[in-house]
Amino acid sequence: MKSTKILLAGAATLAAGALLLSGCSGSGGGGSTDGGGDGGLVGVAMPTKSSERWIQDGDAVKAELEEQGFTVDLQYAEDDIPTQVSQIENMITKGAEALIIASIDGTTLTSVLQEAADAGIPVIAYDRLIRDTENVDYYASFDNYQVGVQQATSILNGLGLTELDGTPIDGAPAGPFNIELFAGSLDDNNAFFFWNGAIDTLQPYFDDGTLVVKSGQTEIEQAATLRWDGETAQSRMEDILTAFYSDGSKVNAVLSPYDGISRGIISALTDAGYTVGEGWPIISGQDAELDSVKAINRGEQYSTIFKDTRLLAQVAVDMAVALLNGDTPEVNNTTDYDNGVKVVPSYLLESAIVVKDNITEVLVDSGYWTEAEING
Ligand code: BGC
Repeated sequence: MKSTKILLAGAATLAAGALLLSGCSGSGGGGSTDGGGDGGLVGVAMPTKSSERWIQDGDAVKAELEEQGFTVDLQYAEDDIPTQVSQIENMITKGAEALIIASIDGTTLTSVLQEAADAGIPVIAYDRLIRDTENVDYYASFDNYQVGVQQATSILNGLGLTELDGTPIDGAPAGPFNIELFAGSLDDNNAFFFWNGAIDTLQPYFDDGTLVVKSGQTEIEQAATLRWDGETAQSRMEDILTAFYSDGSKVNAVLSPYDGISRGIISALTDAGYTVGEGWPIISGQDAELDSVKAINRGEQYSTIFKDTRLLAQVAVDMAVALLNGDTPEVNNTTDYDNGVKVVPSYLLESAIVVKDNITEVLVDSGYWTEAEING
């Protein structure tokens, strides 16, 4: 039977993170009375509204800043790079005192961030590292390598090979299981961290033949999904099914790095005649998007990774406010996020695996989704 050990540990870590954060915003310069919260403008650039998580992020950052007395210019760029660049330019022109940016392509902001630096505006990279510039001050994100480990571990768990904490199960099936691999968008630094965490976790099972990638597409470049687009993933899955599974063999698992990609994969499988309950594959995901939580309840998706956007928003806002107050933001990682020019000091939050059994414990008890939203 599957262990709930890691889930409890994950929930405890999230709770500890919340305490830590509330402690740090109480003592750190985050209050509206001590300098930063004077109604100044903060620019918040988000990539797209086409994914629910970024709407949650934008809302949470805006609410947190407004609570601290700031005015917020929140913009979404619908995954169009020039739009995001001009939105940031506008924020600078309007006199933003700080910028919080979740980039579309982490390599395309070098010149606009030079403008920000020339105007003395601090920049926080939000969730996605901004690359190839010295003009990014801090990075607020999750432990992205660990997210990949969790995605792969949830697949191993779904196949009956390990517990959810990665402990091998005695008498586990020998396989071989057919698995196909999907990665995120290669212009997003996170895609490499998710992939590396997942592949490092799966590698022993490739090595001993328990897992087989029948398509042979085992390089991140082959598995990548530009802009994390679900339709792109759907058509790649369709191509794989046609080219490598027309002989009657079945896909047993699909590593997916994001819920929107998982939904594309699910459509391809359904169209190809796969049925839940009759050899339906184990599929991972990320972000605990509502449609995917419902899909987990229906047995279409096995798992997702919950990253509490409310905590991330809090970290990013605390960083911006600390900088505006002349304080030093709190970080917990100064080694892992080299953006090509410098290692960006980071605060990394913990994520948690969600499977059908712990939806209530992780998502409802934390107030992220209500029971009614999930069952609606
Ligand atoms: C985020 C993920 C998200 C993906 C697609 C990544 O940068 O970290 O949470 O699933 O982008 O939006």
